[in-house]
Amino acid sequence: MDELSPEEVKTLHAALLQLQKDLQALLDSTTESVQTVDLDQPIGRLSRMDAIQQQKMAKANRAAHQLRAKQVVVALSAIEKGEYGFCKLCEEPIGFKRLSAKPEAPFCVNCQAKKEN
Ligand SMILES: [Zn+2]
Repeated sequence: MDELSPEEVKTLHAALLQLQKDLQALLDSTTESVQTVDLDQPIGRLSRMDAIQQQKMAKANRAAHQLRAKQVVVALSAIEKGEYGFCKLCEEPIGFKRLSAKPEAPFCVNCQAKKEN
């Protein structure tokens, strides 16, 4: 895998800043839905379970967005230090193609696959 060119870093930097904005907007807009289900509310048993289920999903989504937002911050500071684009595990270049799809990716394809197994 080739190291990133300065132009590519510039492109990915812009993508990270946009992603950070998008994630923040998402996190801002989902705060409400994570509020505790009011179990005293006169709703049927099924719809109450639906509400709890939805709340669980909203929480999981939110946690995923928060993790991603953290990875974006890490990636942005790596750009500042000139260390962006290298796998945190094997230290090989992650590659522009993968980073275009996921600019906050901390690992290369190989290490990501190993982590998931
Ligand atoms: Zn790696």
